[in-house]
Amino acid sequence: QRSEAEFVTFSVPSYACQRRTTLNNRNAVLTDALSLLADNAELTGDEGRGVAFRRAAAVLKALPKPVTDATQLRGLPCLGEHSLRVINDILEDGASNEVESTKRSERYKALKVLTGVFGVGVKTADRWIRAGIRDLHGLQDSGPALNRAQQAGLQHYDDLNQPVTKAEADAIAEIVERAVASVSPGAQTTLIGGFRRGKPTGHDVDFLITHPEEGREEGLVPKVVSWLESEGILFYQKTTRNSYLEGKESGPGRPSSSMDRFERCFSIFKLPKEEKRGAGQTHGAACGPEAGHKPWRAVRVDLVVSPVSQFAFALLGWTGSKLFERELRRWAGHEKAMSLSSHALYDNKQRRYLRATSEEEIFAHLGLEFIPPSERNA
Ligand code: ATP
Ligand code: MN
Ligand code: MN
Repeated sequence: QRSEAEFVTFSVPSYACQRRTTLNNRNAVLTDALSLLADNAELTGDEGRGVAFRRAAAVLKALPKPVTDATQLRGLPCLGEHSLRVINDILEDGASNEVESTKRSERYKALKVLTGVFGVGVKTADRWIRAGIRDLHGLQDSGPALNRAQQAGLQHYDDLNQPVTKAEADAIAEIVERAVASVSPGAQTTLIGGFRRGKPTGHDVDFLITHPEEGREEGLVPKVVSWLESEGILFYQKTTRNSYLEGKESGPGRPSSSMDRFERCFSIFKLPKEEKRGAGQTHGAACGPEAGHKPWRAVRVDLVVSPVSQFAFALLGWTGSKLFERELRRWAGHEKAMSLSSHALYDNKQRRYLRATSEEEIFAHLGLEFIPPSERNA
């Protein structure tokens, strides 16, 4: 019988944006279980429950040690009854029945496979499942009309579901930088998303592009896309133009939308395989163990362009994690009466926009300690 004094007790602040969350997660077994339940909740359209599980998982990710006993969790924020039950089951029995049965359920498996197709969201997957489609064969055979994104997604399914490595992200960065430099000298490209947070792999590679002269960034995406297309680098792209007007759609009237309005491009790159990149000429083009394999792989790439005046907000908004971003906006709204987006920060009391040229300044405006990207892995 151990006394309570032997247990480490933890204390963490309520909002993920007040915490330092590195990639060194000491409670992966627990957070994987909660993330799976979050996935399942989101896949079945229950966003509120999904967020609750994600917040609970994020609290555990921020703990400095593995949890060994449920009493250690007393007083921690964001751990609801449901999450605590799951955690307890795992601590006591090594597994949670709810998690295991969800993992095995036909509906969960079908939703996972179908939403794994680029361009397929929860609603579409749900509609297909109700029409009897459960897997990719079903999708190919019974053939509901697929849009252009979904066709590309299906075609490159295996590649796009294989994690992108940092080395691949760096190779993509080189290509994007070459494209940007040749269509707009002086423009700057920054790696954002998970790779900026130091993740070793990702589901895609994200870039933020800006130009030091305000206005010169306009129309950059179509030019970059043309360059990439002429080099045969794009399998797919969908460009959206900038639709942001300060004080209108994204201003105080619509504070909480997480969708921003930057000029952007969601794309699929054709990346030459490692052997074919660099100085690999000594290896013949189609011999050796690679023969019969394709010499390239498909990689999802997101390009976002921001005016330099909004750069700090765009950088903060696109570095993630998704939960960290959500918590930043919740903190701004609930604790500071401010509206934060990837474009701007509006102070509802002073009725004015707060300018910033760095992430540090935005955290300061929000009354938060600065958290560097590598500690935003909530
Ligand atoms: P992964 O390694 O799986 O790609 P990630 O953190 O890079 O993880 P992404 O989905 O690429 O995840 O998103 C990167 C960041 O961009 C996130 O912080 C997300 O909030 C933001 N983001 C993604 N899509 C949009 C969008 N349409 N509008 C605004 N922000 C977005
Ligand atoms: Mn990403
Ligand atoms: Mn992305």
